[in-house]
Order: sequence, then C-alpha cells, then structure tokens
Amino acid sequence: MTSHLLVSLLHFSGRSQYRFWMLLCGLCLVATQATAGDPVLDIGHMDANPISLTSHFSVFEDSSQRLQLEDVQKPDMAAQFKAGTASGESLSFSYTASAMWLRLHVQNTSNAPVVRMLEISNPLLAHLTFYQPVDDQGYQATQTGYALPFATRPHASRFFVLPIRLPAHADQMLFFRVATPNSMILPVKLWELQAFHAHERADYVFQALYFGSALAIILYNLMLFVALRDMGYLLYLVSAAFSVLTLATFVGVGAEYIWGGVPFFTKMGTNVFLAIALTAFLLFTRRMLFTAERLPVLDRLLKLFVWINVAFCGLFFLSFEHVARLFVISYAITALLLLVTGTFSAYKRERSAYFFMAAFAVVLLALGMLAMRQLGVLPTNAWTTSGAQIGSALEMLLLSFALADRYNVMRRDKDSAQQRLVENLRTSEAILEDRVVQRTTELEVLNQRLEALSTIDGLTGIANRRHFDKLFAAEWLRCMRLGQPLALAMVDIDWFKKYNDCYGHQAGDECLRKFARILSATVSRSSDIVARYGGEEFVFFAPATDAEGALNMAEQLCAELEAAALPHAFSTYMCVTASIGVAVVVPSEVQAPAALIQAADAALYLAKKQGRNRAVLGTVTV
Ligand code: GH3
Ligand code: MG
Ligand code: MG
Repeated sequence: MTSHLLVSLLHFSGRSQYRFWMLLCGLCLVATQATAGDPVLDIGHMDANPISLTSHFSVFEDSSQRLQLEDVQKPDMAAQFKAGTASGESLSFSYTASAMWLRLHVQNTSNAPVVRMLEISNPLLAHLTFYQPVDDQGYQATQTGYALPFATRPHASRFFVLPIRLPAHADQMLFFRVATPNSMILPVKLWELQAFHAHERADYVFQALYFGSALAIILYNLMLFVALRDMGYLLYLVSAAFSVLTLATFVGVGAEYIWGGVPFFTKMGTNVFLAIALTAFLLFTRRMLFTAERLPVLDRLLKLFVWINVAFCGLFFLSFEHVARLFVISYAITALLLLVTGTFSAYKRERSAYFFMAAFAVVLLALGMLAMRQLGVLPTNAWTTSGAQIGSALEMLLLSFALADRYNVMRRDKDSAQQRLVENLRTSEAILEDRVVQRTTELEVLNQRLEALSTIDGLTGIANRRHFDKLFAAEWLRCMRLGQPLALAMVDIDWFKKYNDCYGHQAGDECLRKFARILSATVSRSSDIVARYGGEEFVFFAPATDAEGALNMAEQLCAELEAAALPHAFSTYMCVTASIGVAVVVPSEVQAPAALIQAADAALYLAKKQGRNRAVLGTVTV
C-alpha cells in the first residue's frame, strides 16, 4: 500500500507542479524572453553534495517528436527554450505525447578536467538521448532509456546515469531529449564522481536490504499458506509480491535485475502490477476485516473496486496513456475506500483492523515524509527518499503480523467452541443417563405389572390356568420333597349354560366374579391356591391337607355358595351351586401330577352324576 500511495502521489504532485509552473511561465513570459540567456552552471568545483539541476535547465517542448538536435539549435527554436521553469527536485511534465528537450549550460572554471555523474532518478523514461560536444567535432549522442536493453546503458545503474567529462576551462551547452509514454518526471542531480560512487554503494545496500526482507516476508508467508491453507495468506502474498514488483519497477531494480531486456515490463509495471496488487489487497481486506458480515455496504464497494482493478489490468493493453491517468483517480478512491473500511472496522472493535490501521498509519507517515521533503521541510537524504520502501517493508511486517494474530484468534475461538461442545456433550450425556435410569425403572414397574397380568385371570382377578399349572407343578415337587399330601379339587358350576341363557352373558360374567370371591374367601389359607381353570370351571389345591380335610373344604365351599343364594331359576336348587371332585395324594416319583387332576376330574364327573351341588372324593390310581 505504501508503494501504491507514493506512486500515486508522485503522479499527482508531478502534474500539479507542472501546471503551476506553466502558469508562472505564462505570467513571466516577457521577462523570461528579455533575460533569454541560460543560467551558467560551474561544475569545476564540487563537494560531496549533489546539485539539483532542475532550476538550471531550459526546456523546449517538441510536440511533433520529430525534431533533431540541429533543429533545436537553430536560433529561432533556441530562443524558444524556457529557462528556470522549475525548482525543487524534479521537472514534471506528467503524461505527455511530446518529446522534451532540456538544455544545460555548464562551465569548468577549474584548471583540471572533471568527470561528473548526472543522475536522472526516474527509471520510467523510455527514450533518453544525451548530446555533448566532443573536441570541436560537433555533438556526440548517447542513447539510453528503458526501451533499450539494460546492457547498453552508459553506466550500469537502476536509474539513468550519464558521465560528463569536461576539460579544464571548458564552456559547453549540453542537450537532453526525453520521450516516454509514462508520466514524465525528471529528478536530475549532478554528483562529484567519488561522492556518487559512495552514494551508489549505500543505495544498493539499502535496495538489497529492502528487497531481501520483502522476499523473506513473501517466502515466509508462502510457506505459511502451504502449511495452513488459509486463503488470507495467499491473497496477502499476491498483494505483497505485486506491490514489491511495482516498487521494483518504480525504483528501476526490476529493469536492472529481473527483466533487463524486456522494456514492456518497465512500461506497464507500475500500473499493471499495481492493479493486480490492489485487486489482491481489496480481497485480502474483505477477508481479514469480515466486511461481508460486518460492513455490508462498504463490502459491496470493495467488491466493485475489485472488478474495476481487474478491468484496469486489461485496459492498460488497449490505451496505456489514457488509462494510466484514469487509474491514478481510481487508485486514489481505492486508497480512500480502504482507509474508510479500516476506520469503521477499528471503530467496531475488529481486532485485525488495529493492525490494518497501524499499517495505514505507516503509509500516511511515509506519505507525509515525502510531501515534507518535496516542500523542503525535510532534507533529501536516504531516509526521506526511501520512505516508500521503508514504509512498504514495515507495512508488510505489520500485515503479516495481523495475519498471524488473526490465525491465533481463530484458533482460540475454535478451542473455546470445542470446549463448549465438550461441556454440552457431557451435560447431554448426563441428561441421557438420567433418562435411561428413569425409563429402566418405569420399564421394570411395567414388566412387573405385565408379569402380574399374565398370571391373573382378567375376568375374576384370581390366578389363571397358566399360573395354576406353574404353581401346581412347583407345589407337587415341594410336597414330594417333604413327603406331604397334596389335595386338589376341580370345581364346576352347575347348569351354567342355562344361567347364561336365562340371565344373559353379562350376568353370567358377574356370577363368575361373585363365585370367584366366594371361592377365594373359603379356600383362604396362605398356602392354598385358587385358580380359574377355564370357562365356569375352577380349581384349588391345598398342600399338607389330607382327604378328609380336603373334602371338608369342598363341602364348606358348597355350603357357602348355597348361603350366598345367588338366584338361578333353572337350577333344581333355585340358586347357583357347584359340583366338586376332590383327590388327595402324597406326590411321588411314580406318579405324574396329571394323575391327581384326572382323579379330581373323575370325582367331579361323579358329583355331577349324583345330582350336582356336592363334593365327591376320588381315588388316585397309580
Ligand atoms: P353342567 O351342570 O353339566 O356343568 O352344565 P353346564 O351348563 O354348566 O355345562 P356346559 O359345559 O354345558 O356349559 C358351560 C357353559 O358355561 C357354557 C358357556 O356358555 C358358559 N361359560 C363358559 N365360560 C364363560 C364365561 O366366561 N362367561 C359366561 N357368562 N359364560 C361362560
Ligand atoms: Mg363345565
Ligand atoms: Mg357346569
């Protein structure tokens, strides 16, 4: 970003200065013509400080681009050169289709020949021709500019450096012709030879330092991207790499070390590389400051400028000069948009925005420094001229730190989210366990109820046939073990079919229920068991009961039933009665439990036969 803003500022300042001086020239036209002679510059005596040549040049604009040295030397044209058109560091003509002729009147008042280095510290000049008189044989032309291969430069430098040899007491008129599709800014200085070499060495150390650290930061972030696969790093990487390429073009290092033989890159570099860098930086900003969610309006603008910058990349190939001017405006708006986005994000307490704004502050500081240098408040030295690169390096560091911080924050968020998840899981696990316990208890109760239901006869509420079978088998074995007698009685209600026919099936059911109650009440020892055997047949067994006792129980039941006097119109006894077959045996291995049942059944048959409403004792046959 620093580099972007500085390039833009140079473009702007160049143009405004140009206009200002053109206006001034217009006002002072008469006076200028009256004092037509160029100022003479004595270069015979110089110290280590360079001389800015800006105010020493006379300038002539050749809008046809066709004039030769001979043409501009002709008196009528020579008179059109304007002296003192600019002061400060550079002559600025912005984007111009004209060729500019510069004339410099120099003298060597010393007694020895001198060699001086004339440095034009702008590498974006396509065509540059230097004319110097040689031993009265006329002018010798030296051609350079980025349009020619780097190897042809008169002095191998990232800028254009022309060695000027002046014999003792010489007085010469030097000419320079400049034409370029890029913004024509001419910061020209003259150096004493040794001082220039010292300056150049220091300058190259600085360049190596800057590009070395930029490369290190970029490679480091490339590795981070490979390791972390976070698009943020890739966008940052592309933005930083193309910013560095923009600067490399702008300071001439690109032409010197990267694409020396291909002038195309120098011509397009500052603009196309910058457009790519801006595109990536806008995407990076959107991602880092989460603008889509937090600043949707600004996000839409950012997206728009992403497309605008993408479009510029292509447009430069159509009409470079026109598009380049528009690009400066678009660039300024992009920078403003980024500043506003950063400010809003910081205001919304977006952590990454603090780093973003710090990086921006560095940019502003570098800009301020450059402006103050141009206004003459700050001196021109390695620090102030290299503000752009220092700012850019700091900015890269700050932004890669912002990325690291962002990664850290995201990791912390993830950790706490995971923590919350684990806690939630634990809570729901506990809830689930409670529920399982609760459900199991409920199930157990239900099972017990079901178990009970499966042993009970639904109509009468006493044990059912299935349960009877189970209990009888167990009791049989128990009595066999103890050698105790086991009594069994089969009970059948008399003429029950008729009861149903007479009173209805529901009344029949009710009768069965009443009968079961009387049976349970009569056979009521805790060891005795009563059950519904099926239909209107019931059964009871009594352990440790002999034949007499069992018969008594049966007769007792008949008596209780008669006492209950449940009306039965179709019974001989006019009430509900029952016939009972009783059988008793001491269970042994030789007998099956079925034998006891059969004996009771046979006795029941006898009871029916003998007139019903009675109990008959049967015999168990082996
Ligand atoms: P007996 O004196 O010879 O035993 O004559 P009975 O009519 O009682 O004997 P039978 O076996 O011919 O008829 C039994 C009747 O009992 C037939 C059936 O309608 C009735 N019965 C069986 N189970 C139920 C029941 O659950 N509810 C009602 N209401 N009636 C039943
Ligand atoms: Mg029956
Ligand atoms: Mg019956």
